[in-house]
Amino acid sequence: MRWSSAFIPTLREDPADAEAISHKLLVRAGYVRQLMAGVYSLTPLAFRSLRKVEGIVREEMERIGAQEFRLPCLHPKEIWERSGRWDAVGEEMFRLEDRRGAELALGMTHEEIFAHHATELRSYKSLPQIWYQFQSKFRDEARPKSGVLRVREFTMKDSYSFDLDQAGVDEAFDRHFEAYHRIFKRLGFDVIAVEASSGVMGGNQSIEFMLESDAGEDWVAYCGKCGYAANLEKAQSVLSEAQDGPGLEAPERFPTPGVKTIEDLAKMEGGAAAERQIKTLVHVVDEKIVLILLRGDHQLAEQKLLDQVEAGEIRPCQPEEIRAALGASPGSLGAVGVEDLYVIADEALRARRDMVTGANEDGFHLRGVDVERDIDVKAWLDLREVGDGEGCPMCREPLSVRKTIEVGHIFKLGTKYSEAMGAYVQDEKGDSVPIVMGSYGIGLERNLAAVVEANHDDDGICWPVNVAPYEVVITVVKPGDVDCHEAGERFYEALGAAGLDVMLDDRDERPGVKFKDADLVGFPYRVTIGPKGLASGVVELVRRRDGQKRDLPIAHAIETIVEAVLDERA
Ligand code: ATP
Ligand code: MG
Repeated sequence: MRWSSAFIPTLREDPADAEAISHKLLVRAGYVRQLMAGVYSLTPLAFRSLRKVEGIVREEMERIGAQEFRLPCLHPKEIWERSGRWDAVGEEMFRLEDRRGAELALGMTHEEIFAHHATELRSYKSLPQIWYQFQSKFRDEARPKSGVLRVREFTMKDSYSFDLDQAGVDEAFDRHFEAYHRIFKRLGFDVIAVEASSGVMGGNQSIEFMLESDAGEDWVAYCGKCGYAANLEKAQSVLSEAQDGPGLEAPERFPTPGVKTIEDLAKMEGGAAAERQIKTLVHVVDEKIVLILLRGDHQLAEQKLLDQVEAGEIRPCQPEEIRAALGASPGSLGAVGVEDLYVIADEALRARRDMVTGANEDGFHLRGVDVERDIDVKAWLDLREVGDGEGCPMCREPLSVRKTIEVGHIFKLGTKYSEAMGAYVQDEKGDSVPIVMGSYGIGLERNLAAVVEANHDDDGICWPVNVAPYEVVITVVKPGDVDCHEAGERFYEALGAAGLDVMLDDRDERPGVKFKDADLVGFPYRVTIGPKGLASGVVELVRRRDGQKRDLPIAHAIETIVEAVLDERA
């Protein structure tokens, strides 16, 4: 490609609304343009890179024996009703009606459709199978964010495994685990594999692949000693043992005028430190009001609660709902003496004595509360969000909590979808058994952005060779000079003929502008051809990643450049 005829709409400034580095750089370097909130167009540069990402993913999927499909984006309501997800999935699903009034969905994932086709598998002899596709997914995300990291329409490689039994799906899962590691390595970044919540997907085991990054929206707890790693939606930790005094014979009511928060009570004279308080949350969980008790300085991990009570939705109650349920306003709520509401308490409160909590009366609290004695706890669960520095649940070393981007997710699904769709096979004894499924996803655009998050500097993107739109840019310093022009053309021909992806910067621009653009757009190698170099028989080769420069004698230059690029292709 010649730059003079390419569409590369670079900008001088970062987009005003962008925070994530990949968002800024992909817009400024001319790779993506927003069409509306959470919907982006890819320019030819980005599409070239995306196809390379796709190529790597495809190679690794074929390597584990997966077979490529292409399923529709437009799905009938009935098939989603069969799995229960027409109702279980809320506003994230795009829904529409056709001209006859039939209800449809735009596919946000394809478990239902693949399981539907798996009904044509009849015997254990046709298992195992791994099926995959690259297809657009539509999700009406509440907060599309950070350029193409979180969008409402994106391309996913989704694969599904079909096995006779648990051992089978374990094997398919492990193969994907390995394939995913190879994929991210080839894309040019390191990931942490973490235990994750399976959420609305169902199933019992899932692993997310996380890239550490400030642009992320997921927090993971990580143990540098034993390697334990889990999403905070799932992570556990151990706390140091609490030292409680004997407390009082019964809770004692005391005035707390103006106290509305945990901090207020911690500061008040005669109050209590946050870790001696009981925090009482009033939430609606799948339409039922529940009281959730945590230590005052702890936060609720909503997904942990949802997973343990097998619920889909949670929201805090409105003040009116709280007043109707407890007869008090937020600020002095408590569960002592509450009989008609379901009370769930976090494990960290077990056996705690001499605690302070709201008295369900504005301006009053109770002290001397013995949690197990004074509160009718219906369920003890691990509900607390893990904090930085708390003990690893495996080895007790301090955990570090890190911000990450989820780049891939693999699930063992069990038989939820095969039972719903009727995907059964005959086993060796002739019994009909539901196929055991797994599902595995990687978002292409998010991964493209992740590559940028992990590979950039102040001047722009530093693509790894594997995903660069062009591997080499030839910068002709003086296109008006006949020798320069001719040498540029010669290199362009020869490098292209050797199979490299080459951009020839033949624009009539100042060299400084061309160098800056080349850095911004991020080509891994730049060959600079100028009159001075030519006069002394050399061209200059610059590696983008570290700025390493070499003068190459013209006679061997092509060979050296090809070798450098091929060395880094993997
Ligand atoms: P998230 O928690 O970030 O919303 P998810 O758990 O909903 O992700 P999955 O359903 O597991 O994601 O989808 C598999 C992969 O698809 C993710 O690992 C990610 O690479 C990609 N992906 C998911 N949602 C989006 C999105 N809104 N925009 C871009 N890529 C996405
Ligand atoms: Mg999501």
